[in-house]
Amino acid sequence: MVLDKSAQPLQLRDVPKPRPGRGELLVRINACAVCRTDLHVVDGELPNPKLPLILGHQIVGRVEEIGQEANSKFQIGDRVGIPWLGWTDGECAYCRSGRENLCDHARFTGYTIDGGYAEYTVADARFCFHLPDRYNDVEVAPLLCAGLIGYRCYRKTGDARRLGMYGFGNAAHLIAQIALYQARDLFIFTRPGDNATQQAAKKLGAAWAGGSDEMPSEKLDAAIIFASVGALVPAALHALAKGGIVVCGGIHMSDIPSFPYAALWEERIITSVANLTRRDGEELFALAPRIPVQTKTETFALEEANTALNRFRAGELKGTAVLTITG
Ligand SMILES: [Zn+2]
Ligand SMILES: [Zn+2]
Repeated sequence: MVLDKSAQPLQLRDVPKPRPGRGELLVRINACAVCRTDLHVVDGELPNPKLPLILGHQIVGRVEEIGQEANSKFQIGDRVGIPWLGWTDGECAYCRSGRENLCDHARFTGYTIDGGYAEYTVADARFCFHLPDRYNDVEVAPLLCAGLIGYRCYRKTGDARRLGMYGFGNAAHLIAQIALYQARDLFIFTRPGDNATQQAAKKLGAAWAGGSDEMPSEKLDAAIIFASVGALVPAALHALAKGGIVVCGGIHMSDIPSFPYAALWEERIITSVANLTRRDGEELFALAPRIPVQTKTETFALEEANTALNRFRAGELKGTAVLTITG
C-alpha cells in the first residue's frame, strides 16, 4: 500500500520484492500496527517523508533472508519486530552519549525508509527486536510504537507516585498497566464529558478519572500528554505539584497557548519525547510479558489500510488497528 503524495489515499500496487543489503534482514511481514504518526505522515503534518512511501513502523514478521554481515542474533525463520528507529550513524554526539533517539542522521521506518504496509520489507538487523513468545503477531504489534514511545514517556516521569495521563488511547492504555503494576496512583484525563472512557480507566484501576478541563483530586508528580492538543500543556502544568514534570508524548502537537510563569515556577518541567532507543525496546519487551501488558487490537487486511486509517482518524476504533498480511 503506497503513499504517492500526502493527503491522498494509499494505492494498492505490486512493487519489486526488496533485497537485503549489507547488515540487513529480508522480512516476510505477518502484521503491522497502525500508529497516529502514520496519519500525520498521510496528512502532510511531518516534513520531508520519502515519497513514494510504504508506511508502517510496528512490524512483525519472519526472517526470510539475511544480508552480508548482518547481526548474528537472528537466524532464518526467527520472528522479528521492526520499530520506528530504523538506522542511526552511531558516530554523532547523541549516539555516543546513549541518546541515539536524537541522532543527527537517524532514519525512520515508514517515514524516511519504507515500512510495513507490505508483504516484505528489509531492515537493519541491529535495530530489530526479538519479541516475547507470550504474544502472537497481532497482539505484540502495538508494543512496537504505542508501547515503546509510551514507555519512554513513562521512564521520563522517574519515580512519580501520582501520575496523570491526558488521553487514554492506545499508548496510555498500555502504560497504565505498567504504572499500576509498579504501584503508581493513576489519574486519567479524557475529553470533557467522555464518561465511557473515564469509567474504563477506573475499571482498569485508575485512582481518579475526569475531563481534561477538571483538576485531579490530588496534585500530580508527573503528567504524560498523549493527545496532540497543545492547550493540554498549561492544563497539565496547573495540575502539578512542585517539582513535577509534564511529558509530551506526541510527534506532532497544536500550538501551546501562553501561560503565566507562576505555572512553571517551583522547578516544574516541560519536556517532549522523541523516537526510541534500542534500550527502551529491550526493557519493555522484558517487562511487558511479566505483567502481562494486554493489548487491544482490531485487525484489517493489508488492502484495507485506507479504511483502518480513516476509522482511526474518525476515532471509531476500539483498539489499535493491525494490518494482517497473508500470502
Ligand atoms: Zn548519531
Ligand atoms: Zn508510531
